[in-house]
Amino acid sequence: MDGPRPPAIDRLARSVSDIAYPHPLAVVAAREAVRSGRPEDVREIAVATMRNLIGPVVNATGVLLHTNLGRAPLLPRSRQAGPSTREAAVEPVRYRNIEIDLGTGKRDSRQRRLETLLRVLAGADSALVVNNGAAAVLLVLTALGRDRQVLVSRGELIEIGGGFRLPDVFAASGAELVSVGTTNRTRLDDYARALSDETALVLSVHRSNFTMEGFVQSTGVSELSTLGLPVIADIGSGLLDAATPWLPGPPPAWLAGEPDVRGSLAAGASLVCASGDKLLGGPQAGLILGRPDLVERCGSHPLARALRPGGLVLESLQETLLAYLRGDLDAMPFWKMASASLEELHGRAGKILAGAGGAGGAEIAEVTATAGAGSVAGSALPSIAITLVGDRRGALLAGDPPVVARAQGGRTVIDLRTVDPTDDDLLSEVISSLT
Ligand SMILES: *Cc1c(COP(=O)(O)O)cnc(C)c1O
Repeated sequence: MDGPRPPAIDRLARSVSDIAYPHPLAVVAAREAVRSGRPEDVREIAVATMRNLIGPVVNATGVLLHTNLGRAPLLPRSRQAGPSTREAAVEPVRYRNIEIDLGTGKRDSRQRRLETLLRVLAGADSALVVNNGAAAVLLVLTALGRDRQVLVSRGELIEIGGGFRLPDVFAASGAELVSVGTTNRTRLDDYARALSDETALVLSVHRSNFTMEGFVQSTGVSELSTLGLPVIADIGSGLLDAATPWLPGPPPAWLAGEPDVRGSLAAGASLVCASGDKLLGGPQAGLILGRPDLVERCGSHPLARALRPGGLVLESLQETLLAYLRGDLDAMPFWKMASASLEELHGRAGKILAGAGGAGGAEIAEVTATAGAGSVAGSALPSIAITLVGDRRGALLAGDPPVVARAQGGRTVIDLRTVDPTDDDLLSEVISSLT
């Protein structure tokens, strides 16, 4: 009656020790394999578990800010410059100074450390960094609008995705949402008529992930600022300056019409809310920028403590901002990828194809990349891809590192715009190994 005894869990776990597997996780895999009645699957289970941990992938989707892939690409630590001028051969384990003022030796605010950099880059008098763009909006509404009214156009009651729906954020903040105008048209007068003693703020929200066409009208920040109340501009993307002085050429065409921090403040916004990991090209963070008294009220609200980022994020954001200030495109992976010329991409494609020896029916194609992450709605960046016959996404994902591609019209599209040129040889190898 009894079936064969299951092999000892521990022995099974040790059989996969060669894949540099932490033993306790190998035990979990062994248990799962035995439970499923297929102990011989232990290796497959162990490998799948390890591969699904957070790790590097080659993004060949052509989506520059891919939310599943951490949005903006970040420079590896070994390639970061940092503020120190002294280099050590072997990097010692060192603490990071997050909140000691080195002038006085006293503690200061970690959230406001990056203020000087943001003042220069975006003309913001004061700045507060929180966990993400959603946290920035929530904190502003809570600290400045709780138990008061906030005016928003009916055309701007957006959903960003991942559960960020403006009416829900209002409900969580305790600020009363007063919607004005209509879905397609909202005039200054609509705001003016809704003003009362209860009104604390006017909120202007960028439609970052959709467009409206036809019989439409909206009221911009400069007009709203004539109402005499603080205007909060939730621009979403975190574009610091629409003039893109950090790029060698003029601002790229796909960026046209995208609101920026500098422009929104200059137009009269009292505060701007923005994301650190959209067009800013940094780590996941939210920025609250603008009038010092309002930033101060946000920073001293108890919620600010709960929404503050950790030192890793602050340092990474600082690294990104320093790269802007140095005008060092090589240290700004997002902007470097976004601004690569078609000729450059074409040249790379030719070399990759030559290296791949025509495997997989590989060809060069002109394709369209996008900004992604619900920013710059409808953005289209001309790009160059290697395409393969059939849907080879599974085989590409199985590689080490995995290559994330897209499928289109019966072919697999490997868009080079989002691939670091350092990975081109790897792509040649990967493609030539496809059977
Ligand atoms: C993306 C976005 C947010 C949310 O920012 P996260 O950093 O994703 O939390 C808020 N408002 C607008 C207009 C956005 O585009």
